[in-house]
Amino acid sequence: MDSIRLHLPRQTASAVYRGPVHVTENAPLAPLTTLRLGGPARRLVTAHTDQEVLETVRAADAAGEPLLVIGGGSNLVIGDAGFDGTVLRIATTGRTVRGTTLELAAGEPWAAAVAEVVHEHGLAGLEFLAGIPGSAGATPVQNVGAYGQEVAQTITEVVAYDRRAGETVTLTNAECAFSYRHSRFKAEPDRYVVLRVRFALEDAAGASSPIRYPEVARTLGAEAGSRVDLRTAHRTVLELRANKGMVLDEQDHDTWSAGSFFTNPILTPEQYQAFRSRLGGLTAPAFPAPDGTTKTSAAWLIDNAGFKKGYGSGPATLSTKHTLALTNRGSASTADLLALAREIRAGVHRVFGVELVNEPVFIGVEL
Ligand SMILES: Cc1cc2nc3c(=O)[nH]c(=O)nc-3n(C[C@H](O)[C@H](O)[C@H](O)COP(=O)(O)OP(=O)(O)OC[C@H]3O[C@@H](n4cnc5c(N)ncnc54)[C@H](O)[C@@H]3O)c2cc1C
Repeated sequence: MDSIRLHLPRQTASAVYRGPVHVTENAPLAPLTTLRLGGPARRLVTAHTDQEVLETVRAADAAGEPLLVIGGGSNLVIGDAGFDGTVLRIATTGRTVRGTTLELAAGEPWAAAVAEVVHEHGLAGLEFLAGIPGSAGATPVQNVGAYGQEVAQTITEVVAYDRRAGETVTLTNAECAFSYRHSRFKAEPDRYVVLRVRFALEDAAGASSPIRYPEVARTLGAEAGSRVDLRTAHRTVLELRANKGMVLDEQDHDTWSAGSFFTNPILTPEQYQAFRSRLGGLTAPAFPAPDGTTKTSAAWLIDNAGFKKGYGSGPATLSTKHTLALTNRGSASTADLLALAREIRAGVHRVFGVELVNEPVFIGVEL
């Protein structure tokens, strides 16, 4: 692995300049992902300013070189062959709170930014998204969500570099086309590089947003729809997540995952009828979703198809704390992980007739 330093022009805008962009040839990608999986990148560039991001993207596009943008690597499954092109790791910094508005640079670690917004600024709107790994810039990509909150509810604008137009654009919330774990950025994966994300939060005098998730309400002994102490809400979600292995912990292999490996299936009325006819005496979770569809639970399907927590005997297994997380026990390859994912997907389909869809982004591999 050769390391070189490439000097790019100094940032002229207000962002802090933190030294020359760092370039590594033949760089292992596994350490940059929470699954610790994936072969090397031909070239890895770590960019600390928007200027460095733009220079790197423009140079790769001009050369016709494949480009993969990454943040914290917490939603990525990279093939064992790696990535034959430039991987751009966004490490830009900047958190600005003005009144109830928040702007985050794409490289800001999300969980730390949420903690600051809650505990130092007392603002509501992100507290149920506590402890989610990765960068702020990735949150609009899959419309990050948990415990009844998703970033689509608070994002006002996303500033991004549009590689097709060759210019920086500001997209409104509506233009981001957010839906469940989806957005315009996910729909057009090679088009936008997110630079900054702006949010409108709420000053509820120390109270949280209304609780929308039954498990949170139960844990806090509160009514669904009510507000609780903002900081308590944040701490409670962190505890709930940690108990499920959904907060990163280097020592705990249950967290060597990409979070939920499958999205919750959204069934058309016909698919839902067919699904119900296969349930026998079981009652599956069912939540009304847009356009007459029904959302059910991927974790429930996996569990009831016979794949219990900890399932698997190889180096890749289900988490011992959550059926929806596929984990690397330390020596797994991406091929091992995918073999497990295929087995589970096929098992769920056999028992319930439902096709599970992967939530993380796959690079150079498919299910
Ligand atoms: C333990 C654990 C728990 C998790 N819990 C949740 C959860 O509760 N809810 C949830 O929604 N997700 C969850 N996730 C998934 C993941 O944390 C989020 O999707 C997160 O937003 C990914 O951020 P990242 O910076 O790590 O993105 P990466 O994994 O680096 O990239 C993910 C995708 O976003 C793209 N991308 C990244 N940065 C940019 C950018 N600046 N511009 C354009 N594209 C970009 C990448 O190209 C890739 O397609 C969890 C993951 C783990 C490991």
